Amino acid sequence: MQAVVKYGRQDGNVRVEDVAEPQGISPDQVLLEVQAVGVCGSDIHMWHENQSWQIKLPVVLGHEFCGYVAKVGERVKGFKVGDRVACETAAEVCGQCVYCLSGNYNLCPHRKGYGNLIDGAMTRFAVARPQILHRIPDNVTFEQASLTEPVCVAYNALVEKTIIKPGETVVIQGVGAIGIMALQIAKLRGAGIIIALGTDIDAHRLQVAKQLGATHAINIQHQDPVQFVKASGDGFGADLVVDATGVSKALKQSMDMVRPNGKITKIGWGPQPLDFSLDPLVGKAVTMQGSFSHTYTTWERVLGLLATGQVDLKPVIGGAYPLTEWREAFERMEKGDNIKSVIKI
Ligand SMILES: [Zn+2]
Ligand SMILES: [Zn+2]
Repeated sequence: MQAVVKYGRQDGNVRVEDVAEPQGISPDQVLLEVQAVGVCGSDIHMWHENQSWQIKLPVVLGHEFCGYVAKVGERVKGFKVGDRVACETAAEVCGQCVYCLSGNYNLCPHRKGYGNLIDGAMTRFAVARPQILHRIPDNVTFEQASLTEPVCVAYNALVEKTIIKPGETVVIQGVGAIGIMALQIAKLRGAGIIIALGTDIDAHRLQVAKQLGATHAINIQHQDPVQFVKASGDGFGADLVVDATGVSKALKQSMDMVRPNGKITKIGWGPQPLDFSLDPLVGKAVTMQGSFSHTYTTWERVLGLLATGQVDLKPVIGGAYPLTEWREAFERMEKGDNIKSVIKI
């Protein structure tokens, strides 16, 4: 079967290859016939060999996916051939550590994710454990369901990890897919003023942010965001700053924009070391919160939001591309034309 494969350690070492179909499944597994896969910023990092996480090689890319159940292991209950399901990213966890046993398996030290340590879904078939499968509501399309994952990332960060009180001022740094999802979740939480920040490359994405409910969408290359945030509300800054960029400079900025006793929630990854002091966190008594991935309940709740139209994916999905046009799909996202590209299998 054809697959989008990262095969080497050089920039650009991704191509369509023929890979073997999964040879049967164990009694505890489910075989999925993939229908749609969201392209993630991390797939683009891997294309350019600038990922900051562990991967195997070669590896089939793709971890935001959904499809039909094609085969069910004999010990699996609750699923049948033909069911439409979305699949979480934690392909394997140990099931025995304190994090697995307490339901926080996203933090299992033995977690292996699709598309980096386990072959991903930019191909026809993927094998999954039933514990990470979720039924897709009838009125949610495969294209939409393939984006459940990035919504879950935002949901975990802004619902499960951070308290937002109705009326609070929220700044979202970065208007890529995660920033846009975070904006929508902040709105659902009742945020008051929402200020989305982007750069020149984000012209389209800033427009979408506005369309989806940001009260202000600022290009930080043309306008000083710190001044702007301080000038809105009572002048003390934002109650919450969400870093969906991972850039060190954004963290510095977030410390300037957050109000005393405020919160900074960091979703974006960035391998660069910091070259500034974290003293403002201390002086302002700020809570800084990291957030990673999601768990079972996150998925069920987010699918509930998709089914009821409370998260709008229409302006987010820039286009759907066949697998052989993966490069176009990746490039359109990289250039900022698409907030999200979807690969249709
Ligand atoms: Zn992703
Ligand atoms: Zn574990």
